[in-house]
Amino acid sequence: MAMEPFQVFAIRYGHLGNRHPGQSYILADPHEYGPDLDYFIWVVRRSDGMFVVDTGFSAESAIRRKREQLRHPVDALRLLDIDPEKVSNVILTHLHYDHAGNLDQFPAARFHVQDREVAYATGRSMCHPFLREAFDLDNALEMVRKIYAGRAVFHDGDSEVAPGLTLHRVGGHTAGLQILRVWTERGWMVLAADASHLYSHFEQGRVFPVVYNVAEMLEGYQLLYRLADSPDHIVPGHDPLVMKYYPAARPELEGIVVRLDAPPSR
Ligand SMILES: [Zn+2]
Ligand SMILES: [Zn+2]
Repeated sequence: MAMEPFQVFAIRYGHLGNRHPGQSYILADPHEYGPDLDYFIWVVRRSDGMFVVDTGFSAESAIRRKREQLRHPVDALRLLDIDPEKVSNVILTHLHYDHAGNLDQFPAARFHVQDREVAYATGRSMCHPFLREAFDLDNALEMVRKIYAGRAVFHDGDSEVAPGLTLHRVGGHTAGLQILRVWTERGWMVLAADASHLYSHFEQGRVFPVVYNVAEMLEGYQLLYRLADSPDHIVPGHDPLVMKYYPAARPELEGIVVRLDAPPSR
């Protein structure tokens, strides 16, 4: 029997503009455009299961870090008729503040995370201000609470969480960053999250300056190409172009929720 494809949604919840090019690229030309960033969480679902991918930043951290929170990422799940209190599986691509906030708002969930990400976010690397800058202590503490509550699911490298949905450790941006490979009606697509912030990163081999290991980041671009059916099946983690290329999930959700399992118009 054919495997049922997943529907995949990106929910845009935040935005950051007025960026210097050096904030997006190592060795940027100071005269080039400094691209804006969008902030997303993602939903992967079909008849037998649903996965929320990342949990966004908290309202408090948006204020402290001067990020524009367009809507609360957890509340925004209700736009897809998802009750956060009933979500049973959350996949965390990594533990940066904009991906792993609000964990306390998923009281029924198990949290899928890489071994190396938890080790990274709670270990010696966090002695370095440069490496810990994009982490919030409260999120790391909350993740440890989930572990002690028996609600963490650890992954080490590649693993299958459901037929047609696999996780793959990339590292690079953080030590334990993972990406998702998802079976959809248009074939195998890859949710890259911060393995590639923008299209320009994986397409041009450029390096985002928030980085743990540059070589792993660059190898990660190769992995995106290997796992996806085509370059059009790779979805970067922060690119505002995603909202332009993919169709709205419903007409009234234009600019808020797009369907990533539909073909992009590039
Ligand atoms: Zn990140
Ligand atoms: Zn991010």
